[in-house]
Amino acid sequence: MAKYFGTNGVRGKFDELTPALSYELSCAIGTYFKGGTILIARDARLTGPAITHAVISALSSIGCHVIDLGLCSSPTAEFMVKHLKADACIIITASHNPPEWNAIKVIDGKGVAVSAKRGEEIESLMGQIKLVSWDKVGKISNHEMAAKEHINAILGQIDRKKTAGKKIVIDCANGTAALVAPKLFASLGCEVITINGQIDGRFPGRPSEPSEQNVKTLIETVISTNADAGMAWDGDGDRVIFVDENGKYVIGDLVFALSILWKLSSSKGDVVTTVATSKAAEDVAKKLGSKVRYTAIGAPYLCEEMVRSRAALGGEEVGGVIWPEFSLAKDGFLTGAKMVEALSTKPLSKWLAQIPKYYNVKLKIDAIADEKKKIVTNVLNYAKKNGLKCTTIDGVRIDFDDSWVIVRACGTENYVRVFAEAKSSEIAVSLAKEYLEISKG
Ligand code: MG
Repeated sequence: MAKYFGTNGVRGKFDELTPALSYELSCAIGTYFKGGTILIARDARLTGPAITHAVISALSSIGCHVIDLGLCSSPTAEFMVKHLKADACIIITASHNPPEWNAIKVIDGKGVAVSAKRGEEIESLMGQIKLVSWDKVGKISNHEMAAKEHINAILGQIDRKKTAGKKIVIDCANGTAALVAPKLFASLGCEVITINGQIDGRFPGRPSEPSEQNVKTLIETVISTNADAGMAWDGDGDRVIFVDENGKYVIGDLVFALSILWKLSSSKGDVVTTVATSKAAEDVAKKLGSKVRYTAIGAPYLCEEMVRSRAALGGEEVGGVIWPEFSLAKDGFLTGAKMVEALSTKPLSKWLAQIPKYYNVKLKIDAIADEKKKIVTNVLNYAKKNGLKCTTIDGVRIDFDDSWVIVRACGTENYVRVFAEAKSSEIAVSLAKEYLEISKG
C-alpha cells in the first residue's frame, strides 16, 4: 500500500502535505521519470506557491529540467504535457476540496495520471535520492502561454458557426477556470456573463465543489438573463456541471451521458467510466451500439483503461469527461464548448429529455481507515450471504434489475460513501437507507 499516494496523487492539509514532504516526494518523482523534463502547474490555493517552490527545487536538484506553467487549470496543464513533449507533469491542486487542502498530482508523458500503485513505486525511491553535481543541476524556465495554447487547441475542435450568438453564463468558482473559460467562450462568439471570475485561493464566491447548492447564483442568473445555458467548474477546471435554459441543474452523471450522446452520434468506440456512474450513461451508450467498461474510481484508472481499450470517451459521475482525441485529461472547458455546439440543434432541456431518467441518492458515513474497511466488509458479507449480484472493482456495488447501490471508502477524505440509484426517488432513498443500516453490520 502506498503511504502517501491516494486515488489521484498525494493530498493533505498544509501541516500534512508540507513543503518538506513535497520536496522529498518530488525528488522521488523526478527519479521515477529518469530526470527528464517536467512541467509544473498550480491552482490558486494560498499554499500553492510554497509547495511549488519546494517541488521545483527538488526536481532541479536531481537534474530534471523544469518548465513552470505557473497558475494554470488542470486540463490546461495536462494538455501541455504532449504539446511541449514533456516527460511528466506535476499539478499542485486539491481540485474541489476546501481551500485549506492541497495536493500533488502526477501525470506521465502520455498524459496518464499516476495511480496509487505507481505512486507506491515512486514512494519506494524516497530517502535514497542523490543530488546531482553542481554543474548538472536542472534548468528552470517559465512558460506563460499555456492557457492561450489550450484555448486555441479547443477552438480547433469546435465549429464556431454553431456556437456564435449563444448567451452563456459561466461560474469560474474564483478558480483557474477564470484563466480559460471567459476567453474561450468569447472566442466561440458567445455572449458571456461571468460569475466568480476573479482568481482567489480562498474561494470567496462559493465553495469549489459545483454542487447544486453551491451554484444558486448561476441558476438565478441563467433565469434572470434568459440565457441559453449555464456552466460551473470545480476549483481546477477539470469538472463541469450545466444549467439548462430553464434553470435546471444538470448533475455530473448527466453531463457525461450527454457527452456520450454527442460523441457517439458521429463516431464509434467503447466508453469507459467508474462503477459509481449512473446507468443512464450505459443506457445511452448501448442504444448507440457501444459497450461500457467499468473501472475503480479515480482519473488514473479511467485513463489506463481508456488507453488499453482505445475508448471513444471516458468520464466519471461528478462531471469529468475525457475526450481522448484531444487529451487524456478530464477537460471541463472542452466539454462545456461541446455543449454550446450542441445547442445549435436544440435547447439543452430537449437534449436532456433524450437521457433515461434515474434518481440518485448520495449519503456519506464518517469513517477513518480501519472503520472504512469494516463498513465495506459488512456490506460484502451481506451480499454474499444473500446471493446478491455484486462487483468489487471499487468498494461493493450491488446490482438489481432497475437499481443499484454502491458502498465504497473514499480515497481522499474520511468517509464511506453510499450511492443508490433507481427509477423512482422513493426506491433510491429506501435503498440508500437500507444499505446505510446494513453497513453497520
Ligand atoms: Mg477537479
